[in-house]
Amino acid sequence: MVKPFVPQLVYVEPRALEYQLGKDLVTKFENMGIEIRETTSHNQIRNLPGDNHFQKYRVAKSTLVLGIRKTLKFDTSKPSAEYAIPFVTGCMGHCHYCYLQTTMGNKPYIRTYVNVDEIFDSAANYMKERAPEPTRFEASCTSDIVGVDHLTHTLKRAIEYFGSSEYGHLRFVTKFAHVDHLLDAKHNGRTRFRFSINNDYIIKFFEPGTSRLPERIEAAVKVAEAGYPLGFIIAPIYLHENWKEGYHEMFEKLEAALPAFARKDLTFEMIQHRFTKPAKRVIQENYPMTKLELDESKRKWKWGRYGIGKYVYTNEEQEDIKDTLGNYIHEYFPEAKLEYFT
Ligand code: SF4
Repeated sequence: MVKPFVPQLVYVEPRALEYQLGKDLVTKFENMGIEIRETTSHNQIRNLPGDNHFQKYRVAKSTLVLGIRKTLKFDTSKPSAEYAIPFVTGCMGHCHYCYLQTTMGNKPYIRTYVNVDEIFDSAANYMKERAPEPTRFEASCTSDIVGVDHLTHTLKRAIEYFGSSEYGHLRFVTKFAHVDHLLDAKHNGRTRFRFSINNDYIIKFFEPGTSRLPERIEAAVKVAEAGYPLGFIIAPIYLHENWKEGYHEMFEKLEAALPAFARKDLTFEMIQHRFTKPAKRVIQENYPMTKLELDESKRKWKWGRYGIGKYVYTNEEQEDIKDTLGNYIHEYFPEAKLEYFT
């Protein structure tokens, strides 16, 4: 079982101490006996412990930076929400195919923003612009926020903030099962709590450092019992030998565990595995022993954002994925909504 994250090292940016959350977290980490260093800016973080890239990368993934979010302009977040709301960047997990490997470059540490009220104020402006249309905010575009939230409780505050809003909705997704502190949050049904799930083979070989499937399912049941609208993202859908059986077993486990009331307002999202050439280089550097299949010649090339092409499954494979997993969803959860396949 993966234990809740505890940073190995904490960095504090000077202005973080102007905020109550910054001060509280420093006190908390001091009491936990964790080494705390000051830094003028997260860009200045150098000399992390470790003799080589491999070791430094692992230390960075368990380093937490307390900082300020300066840009309060939110990115858009299609197809799952209107905006990405930035509370945290980075993640302590070690999924080989994680999209953060390329977006975070050589700064893979976790950075949590302590000016949470300013982020809420910005969200309020976005909601006002669209009102009376609802506005959905996605809180896990640049991190797995649940993985760090038992320390900061920022997500819990956000759930309650949007719970009391008129037009706001919050969404996030996690591969971690440490949800207990979120169960009594006053969500008012305005937060969709999603779990990223995969079959046992894929979690075992490609998702070190995250909660295992039974733990995620157990957490999902708790979340449903707490009255949250629930969702599952099957991502990335990865074709390995016997993938159909692997996913079938995953659905059987889900079906055996989920109470009937949780199935009425249930969503599924399906995202196929993809990679870019820069991502492939980074994956092979950080996880040199990976079994992940990254052979461009077996894939279809597709235009991606910023002109960087990505490699997805062939058209036939995509149809097979849609049919197979779509049928499992239909068979086991006929009332659920399949939001998209991409
Ligand atoms: Fe990346 Fe999510 Fe895995 Fe974290 S849990 S390493 S964000 S894929």
